[in-house]
Amino acid sequence: MLGVTQDVSAHKRLLRQTHELENYDSLTRLPNRAFLYRWLTATTERAQEEDSVGLIIIDLDHFQRINDSLGHRRGDQLLSEVANRLKTSLHDRGLVARLGADEFAVVISDMRSPADLQAVSEGIKTALSEPFFLDKTPVMVNFSAGVSLYPSDGQLVEELVTHADAALNHAKSLGRNNIQFYARRLTEKAQERLQVATDLRQGVGRDEFVLFYQPKVRLEDGAIIGTEALMRWRHPSKGLMAPDRFIGVAEETGLIIPMGAAALRMACANAVRWNCLRHDTPLKVAVNLSPRQFQGENLVGTVKALLAESGCQPQWIELEITEGLLLDDSPLILAQLNELHDLGVTIAIDDFGTGYSALSYLTRFPIDTLKVDRSFVRDLGHKAQSAVLAKAIVALGQSLQMEVVAEGVETATQRDHLLAFSCKLAQGYMYGKPMPEDEFTALLARHAQPSLQKEHPHEEDIAG
Ligand code: C2E
Ligand code: MG
Ligand code: MG
Repeated sequence: MLGVTQDVSAHKRLLRQTHELENYDSLTRLPNRAFLYRWLTATTERAQEEDSVGLIIIDLDHFQRINDSLGHRRGDQLLSEVANRLKTSLHDRGLVARLGADEFAVVISDMRSPADLQAVSEGIKTALSEPFFLDKTPVMVNFSAGVSLYPSDGQLVEELVTHADAALNHAKSLGRNNIQFYARRLTEKAQERLQVATDLRQGVGRDEFVLFYQPKVRLEDGAIIGTEALMRWRHPSKGLMAPDRFIGVAEETGLIIPMGAAALRMACANAVRWNCLRHDTPLKVAVNLSPRQFQGENLVGTVKALLAESGCQPQWIELEITEGLLLDDSPLILAQLNELHDLGVTIAIDDFGTGYSALSYLTRFPIDTLKVDRSFVRDLGHKAQSAVLAKAIVALGQSLQMEVVAEGVETATQRDHLLAFSCKLAQGYMYGKPMPEDEFTALLARHAQPSLQKEHPHEEDIAG
């Protein structure tokens, strides 16, 4: 008898390793995306008529910051620990997978009622709410999550995943740290944004963006001391569109960078034109900057070049930023703001009081002007609380030697309150709505002749 023996253990090990690589994530040992898709397919195919399956996609909030501040090794440690807690919280009721960097998925296959899903979501929340200890450093983690349900939100696995993703994006847009369920409206919204992005790209090529100008006045006598340039889109079929319909998409797509530069170019040209007509005080033109512009190639260089090419004096330009830009306290933002300030332009904080930043940033960044958000001005005269806050903000700005501008002044009552708080500057419909450039030129000319000072400027009809 002849026998052949062969040691197959190495071969088996290789097969097992290949299987692991194809189906599992090497860091957390959780099933990967490919595995999840197959598992979901099998689960939904097996599901009986009355069964439903829940898919939750979870994304850790600001994970990049943990990576940046504590290092990638601790970042990895955190992800492994999150994976463990998710598995434990599920009590073998389904599957936990890792989809990507800080994105996880949970599938609940034996759902009997929506209350089941609620219970699982609560379980996840509790599991992740305790601090994580990374080499003894306690770290708190928030997460955003989106939920879709089989079969009501989709029959196919791709649909379920896309819809849970849409719900997740919605959760993020609501300020993160929350769980949202998919609603059909979300896909419609996503499609609409896609259409806006396509139109925007064409609009940039065709120069469809213009600036409207709203006067900024001295409260005591109504004299025009400046103007804010506000972007409008002359859409070929939808008419004139206000910025809230397109700035968000322009930021997401990065188109805000060329759009913002074009706006600044127009604003500089007009600042030169208007200041040449004025013999008394200079007129300052304020331009809004998006945080996205600070991530572009060379914001400072662009501003410098635009000032030079138009012959615009830096003190005629104010750049408006929002508190959100300062939130991350990044040295790169600080450096750019300092360089801009050194050019001689002034910096204003727009919509002040609506952000969540620590007030200490007011002294760390080169800020010249505070614009008190309209929400504080709106209720002056009705709500005592608004008066207290508006007054405190005015005092805060003034004690830091900043100019303070009240936004959205519409009535004489609001004006009188602001004067009583010794607020000096204002902007609002009471003094003029945003108007086309020629109308603003005419308004300036009329103001130069006090006898003709009666006018009621109006804004063109705005679509939507
Ligand atoms: P913002 O910079 O805070 O501009 C003030 C907004 O308040 C303007 O809305 C203006 O029309 C409105 N407003 C002014 N006075 C009153 C008032 O008395 N009552 C009421 N109800 N509203 C008043 P608009 O023009 O729709 O602009 C909205 C936002 O879009 C701006 O808020 C700004 O954040 C953004 N935006 C506008 N133009 C640009 C731009 O060129 N670049 C960037 N990045 N953002 C822009
Ligand atoms: Mg503004
Ligand atoms: Mg504002």
